[in-house]
Amino acid sequence: MDDCVFCKILNKDIPAEFIYEDDTCVAFKDINPKAETHVLIIPRDHISSVMDMEEKEIETVGRLVFAAKKIAKKMNLSGYNLQFNVGKDGGQEVFHIHLHLMSKFS
Ligand code: AMP
Ligand code: ZN
Repeated sequence: MDDCVFCKILNKDIPAEFIYEDDTCVAFKDINPKAETHVLIIPRDHISSVMDMEEKEIETVGRLVFAAKKIAKKMNLSGYNLQFNVGKDGGQEVFHIHLHLMSKFS
């Protein structure tokens, strides 16, 4: 997607502080953190929102949660919050699906 900021991050067209990558997804630090630790985990495939998610994308979206678990373990987080903002009215600003990993423990 040409006008998608997270696709641009994936293509390295705009910089981000990557902290995790695998075949399905990547994670980087949120540019405007709302918690001491605030990481965004996104799929390499452009899926716009949970609202538009299709059944064939269950594995891809599930991989975001599994990546979050691995990242949290690597960062020694003893507890954390995982959040999808869904749709404009759900606070979603970037329409490339992403899982927020937030923690006050670092
Ligand atoms: P949401 O409101 O769920 O769509 O979250 C979008 C998140 O993306 C916000 O927390 C922003 O701070 C973050 N964000 C937007 N642009 C960038 C960027 N270029 N690099 C890192 N994080 C970004
Ligand atoms: Zn995208």
